[in-house]
Amino acid sequence: MKGRISSLQSLGAVDGPGLRYVVFMQGCPLRCPYCHNPETWDESRGEEMEADALVQKILRFRPYLTGGVTLSGGEPLLQAGFALELFKRLKEEGFHTALDTSGCLEPPELPELLEKTDLVLLDIKRADAESHRREFGLPLEVPMGLLRRLERRNKPVWIRQVVVPGVNDGEEELRALRGLIEPFACVKRLELLAFRKLCAPKYEALSLPFPYGGKEELSRRRQSELQGKYGFVRE
Ligand code: SF4
Repeated sequence: MKGRISSLQSLGAVDGPGLRYVVFMQGCPLRCPYCHNPETWDESRGEEMEADALVQKILRFRPYLTGGVTLSGGEPLLQAGFALELFKRLKEEGFHTALDTSGCLEPPELPELLEKTDLVLLDIKRADAESHRREFGLPLEVPMGLLRRLERRNKPVWIRQVVVPGVNDGEEELRALRGLIEPFACVKRLELLAFRKLCAPKYEALSLPFPYGGKEELSRRRQSELQGKYGFVRE
């Protein structure tokens, strides 16, 4: 089966444990105002590739991949059939597989895909339901529904949230986020990621407005302060 790929990163260190091959899938139905990868949005862009050809590429890097393979995007659940075929092949080869998703879709292949997924990296974009719906056009209940499903399956999850100064860096909201996530035993990490604007030239090149272009970046110091206070790691 062919999939539409936006880009490939042969040695990624931030999308799951260890050094990983990261596959950025093309297409995303959301338009997050801080999105780092706007080039992945349009489903018609990217390059078509057979799952098996991609596995062959990944195998060349096997000696360096201390972690495994992460499927990111874009939204990988948009191409769930391809994701399933790829993960089946990767599991046959003995790789650890991670699925990086906003949890905004529920394709029919999802149960089988989760069988072949070792770790889910799930965005919970805001703890406040009203802000979640307003800023992302998606009810908080949708990714929370996936989280409940992952809890029932006892599937390891890392929850991630991009923290934007003046938007969701308030102590009250971050406390609420921790309160929302902590009861889920399947969640091994709650990671607060810093909003960055390195992606601004991508918006310019695509002639797209960068909605959060005028916001401040979150400093590393503040990020580690917030991570220490509200994030957690329990592996
Ligand atoms: S879900 Fe991810 S890829 Fe899609 S718009 Fe949001 S940040 Fe960008």
